[in-house]
Amino acid sequence: MTSMTQSFTRWPVIEKDPRDFRVRPNLLDYADTCAAFTWDDARRALTGAPPAEATGGVVSSGTAMNIAYEAVDRHAEGPNAGKDALRFIGADGAAHSLTFARLAEETSRFASVLRELGIGSGDRVFSLLGRVPELYVAVLGTVKNASVFCPLFAAFGPDPIAQRMTLGDGKVLVTTRALYRRKIVPIRGELPELRHVLIVDAEGSPEEGTLDLAALMAAAPDYGPIAATDREDMALLHFTSGTTGTPKGAIHVHDAVTAHYATGLFALDLHPDDVFWCTADPGWVTGTSYGVIAPLVHGVTTIVDTEEMEVERWYRILEEQRVTVWYTAPTALRMLMRGGVSRARSHDLGALRFVASVGEPLNPEVVIWGQEAFGIPVHDNWWQTETGGIMIANYAAMQIKPGSMGQPLPGVFAAIVARDSEGRPILDDEGLPVLVTEEFEVGELALRPGWPSMFRGYLHEQERYERSFVGGWYLTGDLVRRDRDGYYFFVGRGDDIIKSSGHLIGPFEVETALLEHAAVAEAAVIGIPDEVAGEIVTAYVVLHPGWEATDALRLDIIGFARRRLGPAVAPRELEFTDEVPKTRSGKILRRLLKARALGLPEGDTSTVERPQ
Ligand code: AMP
Repeated sequence: MTSMTQSFTRWPVIEKDPRDFRVRPNLLDYADTCAAFTWDDARRALTGAPPAEATGGVVSSGTAMNIAYEAVDRHAEGPNAGKDALRFIGADGAAHSLTFARLAEETSRFASVLRELGIGSGDRVFSLLGRVPELYVAVLGTVKNASVFCPLFAAFGPDPIAQRMTLGDGKVLVTTRALYRRKIVPIRGELPELRHVLIVDAEGSPEEGTLDLAALMAAAPDYGPIAATDREDMALLHFTSGTTGTPKGAIHVHDAVTAHYATGLFALDLHPDDVFWCTADPGWVTGTSYGVIAPLVHGVTTIVDTEEMEVERWYRILEEQRVTVWYTAPTALRMLMRGGVSRARSHDLGALRFVASVGEPLNPEVVIWGQEAFGIPVHDNWWQTETGGIMIANYAAMQIKPGSMGQPLPGVFAAIVARDSEGRPILDDEGLPVLVTEEFEVGELALRPGWPSMFRGYLHEQERYERSFVGGWYLTGDLVRRDRDGYYFFVGRGDDIIKSSGHLIGPFEVETALLEHAAVAEAAVIGIPDEVAGEIVTAYVVLHPGWEATDALRLDIIGFARRRLGPAVAPRELEFTDEVPKTRSGKILRRLLKARALGLPEGDTSTVERPQ
């Protein structure tokens, strides 16, 4: 098996000059910080009050912890009470804020509503909402009540909603009148566990079978002290985005907040005076971990755009809100890049001092483009629903190797496990995975369990959970390689890897090369089975406006890719297409592309982005 080393050397390393740091980065010396770090220290930095006090004296054990206390009430009790916690930007660009004090009050009311309805510890509360204040109040109010919160993306249709609510035993659903009528009424009969539907915009006249949330909140008695939760109690349920099959419900516990705090500190470099914007929807794990919990835990003001992505609007928000730290995704950055540098430069983005990206591979040219457009490079980082928080990152004070996801967080131990030709981990005589030590050799990214935001199970699927661990390592399903400095490079999802004539090819590498051709706006690459080669690298390409899908252009793009990648890796087949199937969170669904190409069943398509 040959491993590819293209794209590691072509891009210049981005050095950091300490004189450019506008604020002193939280992580200055990587090796020292890693050596000194312990999760217990992070926990101690967090809990602003002794655990017994935090829970009104109900729990006196040293393991009490509640996400809502750490994120909200702790600040509401101190000098941050009057500070904006969440700032919502409406369709007209006007801002509407909730201070920490107000958020503490609202979330307590919500918790009280749940308690009055007989919803208690461990009960699952789902939301089907856009990015409205009630969603944020529901997330934190639910965990305050020791119940478990599970956000659903508002664009889901009735079937994926029914599937997830059934899997998750949802007892309460918080939604809008319109979404209820359109998406819940058709499936309500299939959800016997669902006891209460709380409507956020009922305006005094809830539909039959639903309750008026505002009225319940107004009438709710004082909640009193936050429910006594242990740090190992379940707090959040997140369904994975389903790029590889049926959704799984990943269980997260209150202690996850320790990881949100530490990763906010090191990977996002949050400082108390920051204005932070995470563009992910809380329907996805990123939008909850980093769009709600991490910044609030740091007492930082968080921007929430209630509208959908639009290039000009986003630049305006960055400019008008004086955003200092921005956490977004490659798809969005590529859209901005398509709009050109001049568009970015026509806005005053001078407040911006740190930009990070997550969710899918970040093309090196986007990292570099960030420097041109914003004056700072984009910092890629890596994690997944199961890890609950950022695991590998590029840091504010450290050099960036464009195309690399960076290095493991302090407290996170990563390794690369060798795989056999069937994609299974290779084990030694003692049943322990064989770890890759060669520079740039491809293997599966593995993490040593022990970080606080690690998932504690797939709900009702214990066996599937256990299969994720081998010989004391959690196997992520992603293929990566590492250079001698310890920087990790993403190769692909294990299931997306193409094996062609003995080569192991990561689709992302090929897509990156294709995107460098002037005509290519989007590219997705899969392997199509072939008797001789095993698989043939096949590309699907969306052209920029103004380019015509001719045979000559097809050959030109293939030739371009061959020069970049070599004939063994470049696509042999290339088809033009109008769109590339993606999840709503922007990940290319290669599994679906392949199923379509081979005429096979499409499997779970609930997360596919499609017009409403
Ligand atoms: P999800 O569980 O839906 O959040 O998806 C997680 C998956 O997204 C990971 O396992 C990776 O395959 C992919 N992913 C996340 N971040 C990155 C990144 N920085 N580079 C490449 N792939 C990423």
